[in-house]
Amino acid sequence: MIYQIRCSYCGCYMGEKEAPANKFALMMIEHGLTVESHSICEQCKQHVLNDIMSYADKGGFYDDK
Ligand SMILES: [Zn+2]
Repeated sequence: MIYQIRCSYCGCYMGEKEAPANKFALMMIEHGLTVESHSICEQCKQHVLNDIMSYADKGGFYDDK
């Protein structure tokens, strides 16, 4: 079956993929819902990476202050 791929962060549409159906997906379709799979778009990936890097730069990952 076809799954719609969306960015989990901003919700933008990223295309679709073919993958095996499962009980949950079939139930979603039965209820008229779109079956989605999640990923992260390039923009959000950069944003999240920048956040992590700036946190690390401030020594945020270390407890020994
Ligand atoms: Zn995004």
